[in-house]
Amino acid sequence: MVSTTQSVDRQSCAAADARDDLMHFKDRFDLPSDVIYLDGNSLGALPVGALERAQEVITAEWGNGLIRSWNTAGWFDLPRRLGDKLGRLIGARAGETVVTDSTSLNLFKTIAAGIRMQQVDHPVRRVILTERDNFPTDIYVAQGISDFLNSTLDDTGNRYEVRLLDDELPLEDALDESVAVVALSHANYRTGSLWDMAEVTAMAHERGAVVIWDLCHSAGAVPIDLTAAGADFAIGCTYKYLNGGPGSPAFIWVNPRHQERFWQPLSGWWGHADPFAMADAYAPAEGISRFLCGTQPITSMAMIEPGLDMFLEADMSRLRAKSLELTDLFIELVEQRCGDHPLELITPRDHDRRGSHVSFRHPDGYPVMNALIARGVIGDYREPEVLRFGITPLYLSRTDIWDAVEALRDVLDSCAWDTAEFKKRHAVT
Ligand SMILES: *Cc1c(COP(=O)(O)O)cnc(C)c1O
Repeated sequence: MVSTTQSVDRQSCAAADARDDLMHFKDRFDLPSDVIYLDGNSLGALPVGALERAQEVITAEWGNGLIRSWNTAGWFDLPRRLGDKLGRLIGARAGETVVTDSTSLNLFKTIAAGIRMQQVDHPVRRVILTERDNFPTDIYVAQGISDFLNSTLDDTGNRYEVRLLDDELPLEDALDESVAVVALSHANYRTGSLWDMAEVTAMAHERGAVVIWDLCHSAGAVPIDLTAAGADFAIGCTYKYLNGGPGSPAFIWVNPRHQERFWQPLSGWWGHADPFAMADAYAPAEGISRFLCGTQPITSMAMIEPGLDMFLEADMSRLRAKSLELTDLFIELVEQRCGDHPLELITPRDHDRRGSHVSFRHPDGYPVMNALIARGVIGDYREPEVLRFGITPLYLSRTDIWDAVEALRDVLDSCAWDTAEFKKRHAVT
């Protein structure tokens, strides 16, 4: 461990790296040598195993196996097989998780499932509770469901509504008897702050709400135990910390106590009890398979497995310890070495409240990040004014952290960010 005192220097970072028995995982990623990659929380790096798997799935399974591969290469079962592996990272047991569709779609399915359960048990509950600071798609999907449900109601009943938590409306006040579903992101995408999953779930249940956790910024970043927390549903993506590749399919988990009971509206043939019976009426598959909708993107989905295997091999508790060490180091070094600049830490210092990325506000955050990226230190920028740095312990070292902070210091000290080029807005930030 690097001691985070005045005495930290590049040499002490290198010495601690030499003692780190996770460092060998770095060679299992295909990373450019001139890049320090601090954006694995947005798009994870490429596992060497995924390159090999891509070759196999395209050439042997698609090219030679052709349609036979649905049976012979295990394509049909892939959503469940990968779901079982991923489930081990989030405190799920076998048969409770599938990999499928996108996070936005899976959120739609789970909110609809939660609303439907409440329509049976407590039909007066018509509020979907989320937070203003949530990732936008989570708010938009909740609004879409609420609008759709309202369009089917006559004008007399109470309406569906999306309620947003913020500084003025804390959870304790917002969770009243009108709330049907609580849908929160475990780790906040901007600040990296973590909800206490067990505590929030218990409070929501006590007050009669169904709880959905979005694990996009926490799966593969922090240890998660959905079973111990007693959550109802969870969703999340595989292309961030889990290194599944751009747009790789997301996952969905349902607590087994709901597995035979829940319903979801995207009732496509892959969620049918017997898809190839080609029956004229929908009958849901048993258990988690009913969350599937249509034919799965097998080539993309197959790329997810090598990353998952590394997580299972490395173990989340070891990764968490290193993540906290690296995020602590990053915060300390930025505060020590860039202390003259208007940087404001917005990530919690408390370990129990911190995910695996660190964010600082800076009034010129956007051009500062572009200047850093031009030097090969890749983080990202989020509105408003936020420099966000994802810390991924599988492929980052303490010397990477040191070098990244030195690059930041240099960009700030030299005002290298203050150019028209770095201020120009791109479509994706
Ligand atoms: C990244 C992210 C998403 C992304 O959803 P997609 O459907 O994959 O585009 C959703 N929610 C949260 C909290 C995220 O961080």
